[in-house]
Amino acid sequence: MKKFELTAVDLYPEIMNIYGDRGNIIYFKYRCSVYGIEIKIIDVTVGKNYEKECESADIFFMGGGQDAEQALIYEDFFSDKKNILIESLNKNKIMLAICGGYQLLCDYYKSADGKIMKGISVFKGYTESGTPRLTGNIAVKSVGTVLIGFENHGGRTYLDKSQSCIGTVLKGYGNNGKDKTEGARTGNFFGTYMHGSFLPKNFVFCDYLIGLALQNKYGVNLPEAMEISGVKADEIDDNFEIKARKDVRDLKGFF
Ligand code: GLN
Repeated sequence: MKKFELTAVDLYPEIMNIYGDRGNIIYFKYRCSVYGIEIKIIDVTVGKNYEKECESADIFFMGGGQDAEQALIYEDFFSDKKNILIESLNKNKIMLAICGGYQLLCDYYKSADGKIMKGISVFKGYTESGTPRLTGNIAVKSVGTVLIGFENHGGRTYLDKSQSCIGTVLKGYGNNGKDKTEGARTGNFFGTYMHGSFLPKNFVFCDYLIGLALQNKYGVNLPEAMEISGVKADEIDDNFEIKARKDVRDLKGFF
């Protein structure tokens, strides 16, 4: 039986990991194992050149962080990781960036103390810190599913008209609490304000990311990979994930 393997790189996991964002790569590994897909996780942080490790990545994860954490990784991110990520985007690789990570993939982030951190412009738009902080559970209408999560950010992100978002806010604030957009998508790179962790509460989206990674590396979608690996759809138990979604009581009725 063919074994599919994917490599997942977590950027700055010991620094950019606020509100449980490490849970995204943990759940991604678990969900892949359900489909018989082997996952190799590589943690990459500030310092030594990680070009080789990043080049082997099929998917990148980057969590959120307060302004201080973003400043801690900024120099390394903008100098060392920028080109690797842009090359990966052009090779249709996948990235999931949460909140503070997402903001650095835009054109710039102006922090609460007025410092401007130029972004890598994967997403066209900018973020400026404001008050009060935008916090609480959030529900977002996206393609084929309602995404849910928890947000806590001072930053207000305004996307260029040409920039795709990942959905429309049904409850909560999203990018800026005004235009009802949430997150951003360019190619197979996704940014969102949804912490939580995000993926365990959105297993349909997680399966979508797995499918994109399989398509990019092996030229098969998830159902085809399941067929090849002999994994039956009725063997997949989503009850725990469905319960986790239902437990977010103040989003009742939004999905
Ligand atoms: N420091 C950024 C802000 O306050 C991001 C916060 C976060 O990652 N939760 O908007």
